Amino acid sequence: MSPHCNVFLFIALFVPTSVMADEVISFKLGEVVVNLDVNEAPDLKDWGTKASHLVLDWHPRICNLLPSKGVTPPKTISLRLVKSDKDVASTTGTTISVSSDWIRKHPDDFGLIVHELVHVIQTYPDGHPQWITEGIADYIRVVVFEGQPQHSFEVPSDEQAYLQGYRIAAGFLFWLESDLAPGLVNQLNTSIRKGEYHDEVFEKAAGKSLDDLWREYAKENITKR
Ligand SMILES: [Zn+2]
Repeated sequence: MSPHCNVFLFIALFVPTSVMADEVISFKLGEVVVNLDVNEAPDLKDWGTKASHLVLDWHPRICNLLPSKGVTPPKTISLRLVKSDKDVASTTGTTISVSSDWIRKHPDDFGLIVHELVHVIQTYPDGHPQWITEGIADYIRVVVFEGQPQHSFEVPSDEQAYLQGYRIAAGFLFWLESDLAPGLVNQLNTSIRKGEYHDEVFEKAAGKSLDDLWREYAKENITKR
């Protein structure tokens, strides 16, 4: 192959890459930047734009809800709309990926962006208690962002059902925050970030063991229905 051919090959490979890079749109507010990638779903650009503005609006609020001395959460976030009919959304490091199929079927589901943004801000070390990580993400999504009331949360009667995380744990955290242990979410967040979480954080904050608190919550909230 002559040197000329090599140059041609380089250009042929390079051009599509530069076109793809043009599909990443940046949004900025203060120090927070969102890089929106709609290459795989260009028809969802408007949805992605709304979601990017939501990230800019909610980044400082979530940082205020989850403060820890010496911890500065990432301020540059990648938002990828992925061509997929599986899953809903996921976060790896500072990249939030959302499934295109989910968006088309649930175009009003912006709460998922808040949930994933919490994960970007949490910056927890390996070995974090997953049920609390997901519980805090849904607590901020469902209680703070969506403003849903306590009675809207499902309360399974099983022992240790809080381990299911997500909305089950979010409802439990909401109940604890509202009465027995205001500030608990903040304390849990800081202890996990420091790698110092243990179940006694609940006992210290609310005066009873985690399992006893769950039993009390389940009893009180199931009876109300
Ligand atoms: Zn999650």
